[in-house]
Amino acid sequence: MVKMAKGIKPNAIMPNSNCAACPRLNAFRVKNKSQFPEYFNAPVPSFGPIKAKILIAGLAPGLHGANQTGRPFTGDGAGELLYPTLLKTGMAQGSYLARADDGLELTIARITNAVRCVPPQNKVTGPEIAACNGFLSAEIASMDSLRAIIALGTVAHGAVLSAVGLKKSAFKFAHGAVFELPKGILLADSYHCSRYNTNTGRLTTKMFEDVFNNVLALTNG
Ligand code: SF4
Repeated sequence: MVKMAKGIKPNAIMPNSNCAACPRLNAFRVKNKSQFPEYFNAPVPSFGPIKAKILIAGLAPGLHGANQTGRPFTGDGAGELLYPTLLKTGMAQGSYLARADDGLELTIARITNAVRCVPPQNKVTGPEIAACNGFLSAEIASMDSLRAIIALGTVAHGAVLSAVGLKKSAFKFAHGAVFELPKGILLADSYHCSRYNTNTGRLTTKMFEDVFNNVLALTNG
């Protein structure tokens, strides 16, 4: 059981909109509220049904993406690969228009982030990952139909392991790797679908789709 940061209700899967457990992120939020008052500017809630069988864990909202729209990966560069992949694999239906009101629905997947508030320069700290980990832990525990978690990048991979009480050193991150966690839940790793990774060729569309198709094959039936 992950210890919740001070001021956070035990077993809550969603932070308060003014969660101040991370002073640096809280200060950044206050600044963004003044600079971009029309933005969401709060911890971004997970998206998708709690009964989903696949949980996708990312890093954190982007300033002008999910922090603006209030939906994970929506408006972020990374969403340009994630959402089309979800639509192509049948994990989502509708159209992705980079807006929270585009009507897109997740069918068998849910999306969350290791850290729910936007960090400056997209960089999170160890204490911030730890402070937000209780939400991820409670969320995983609440997902009764969960069969697999897709971790996008090393931060998400480590956060998932911490959230289920496992040591990171026993499960080394590798793109395409699949590990078995307690209760038979699978952890599948992918490089993060950030613009940096796709622009540099570290992650191709095929590499990303292969991870999702593999998880579908492993969790079918
Ligand atoms: S990142 Fe998580 S723990 Fe930190 S302030 Fe935001 S919601 Fe609270």
